[in-house]
Amino acid sequence: MSELRSCDLRSLEEMMQQLQQPSFRAKQIFGWVHQKNITDITQMSNIGKNLLAMLQNEHTLGVMQLEKRQVSADGTEKYLFRLSDGEFIECVLMRYRGDMSKARNTLCVSSQVGCAMGCIFCATGQSGLVRNLSVGEIVGQVYEVNALLGEKMPVGNVVFMGMGEPLLNLDNVLKAIELLNDVQGQNIGIRRMTISTCGIVPQIARLAQAQKDFVLAISLHAPNDELRSQIMPINEQYPLAMLMNACREYQRVTKKRLSFEYALIKGFNDQEKHIKQLEMLLKGLDCHLNVIPVNPVAGAGHFQKPSREYISRFVQGLKKVGVNASIREEKGKDIDGACGQLRGKIKELS
Ligand code: SAH
Ligand code: SF4
Repeated sequence: MSELRSCDLRSLEEMMQQLQQPSFRAKQIFGWVHQKNITDITQMSNIGKNLLAMLQNEHTLGVMQLEKRQVSADGTEKYLFRLSDGEFIECVLMRYRGDMSKARNTLCVSSQVGCAMGCIFCATGQSGLVRNLSVGEIVGQVYEVNALLGEKMPVGNVVFMGMGEPLLNLDNVLKAIELLNDVQGQNIGIRRMTISTCGIVPQIARLAQAQKDFVLAISLHAPNDELRSQIMPINEQYPLAMLMNACREYQRVTKKRLSFEYALIKGFNDQEKHIKQLEMLLKGLDCHLNVIPVNPVAGAGHFQKPSREYISRFVQGLKKVGVNASIREEKGKDIDGACGQLRGKIKELS
C-alpha cells in the first residue's frame, strides 16, 4: 500500500509499468494528485475504470483530516491535522497584505511529528520526537490548505518552520520541495521555500550539494556558546564555531544569502555586548538576521520578550555595526500560532 501523494512522476511511471498501463497515465495521475489536489482517488475521472479500481485496492492518497481550524484577529490561520495513524500535526497560514505586488500567503509547514532537539523555549520540543513525516504528509499540508482557501490566493511561499527539525528528515523534505516546485504540480518557486534548522552541521553540507535555490535559515538565538548551550542542547554537539564554519562553506559553495533567526529573550541575549558578539560571528557573511520577540510557551514562562522600544533599539544597534537585521512581524499569537507555539496535540481541542 503506498501513498500517492508521496509519489513523484518516476515512481508513478514505474507503477504504471507494473500495472501494464500506458505511461501517459502516470502524468494524468500526477496532475490529479499534485496539481488538482484531489481528496479522493475516485475523483480521477479520466484514467479508466480498471486502473481506478486497481489504485483504490492497492494505494491510498494520504489525505489528512482537518480536526481544527483557528483564525487569528490578524488573519493568520492555524490548522490541526490528524494523520492516517492518528498522530497530529499543525501548520500555520500567514497572510501578508499591503502593497498588492507584495501580497502573499505563506504556509509554515511541519516536517516531523514532535521534535527531538529539545530547545527549551519551543513547545514542539517539549514532548520529543514521535516520527518523521512522509513526503505526502509534507506536501499534503499545502494541498489541504489550498483546498480550503479556494483558488483566489493559493499558498505562494512555504517555510519549514512548523513542527520538527527538517534537516533530520532531509530526504523527504527535499523530495517535497521538488514536488511543490514542479510546474505540473503546485508550481511554487523554489526561491519561495525556506528550510529552517537548529544547526545540524553535517546536513548543512549535504544541503549545499543539493544545488537548489531554496533559502536556508539558521536558528542562532544566542551570540556565544555559553548562552546557546543553555537553550539549545544541539549546541553541545555542534558548537557555534562548527556551525558558522558550515555556514561559510555553504555560502562558498552555493553563493546564496543566508538567513538567521534570533529569538530575543529579555535579560538573556539582548545586551549591548551581544550586538558586538553577533557582529563578530556574522562578519563577512552575506546574511540577514531576523529578530523575533520570543513567544511565550507553557513550561518556559521565564522567557519574556523585551519591550517594543528595546527591541527596536537592539535592531538599530545591529544595523549600526553593519548587521543586516530586522524585526520579524509577529503573527497569530492569539491562537498560539506564532513561532515555537505549535504542539500538534488533540488535547488542544476544546
Ligand atoms: N526546527 C527548526 C524549524 C522549526 S522552528 C528550527 O529550529 O529552526 C521555527 C523557528 O521558530 C526556529 O527559528 C525556532 O528556533 C523558532 N522558535 C521556537 N520557539 C520559539 C519561541 N518560543 N519564540 C520565538 N521563536 C521560536
Ligand atoms: Fe525542534 Fe526547532 Fe523547536 Fe528546536 S526550535 S525544538 S529544533 S522545532
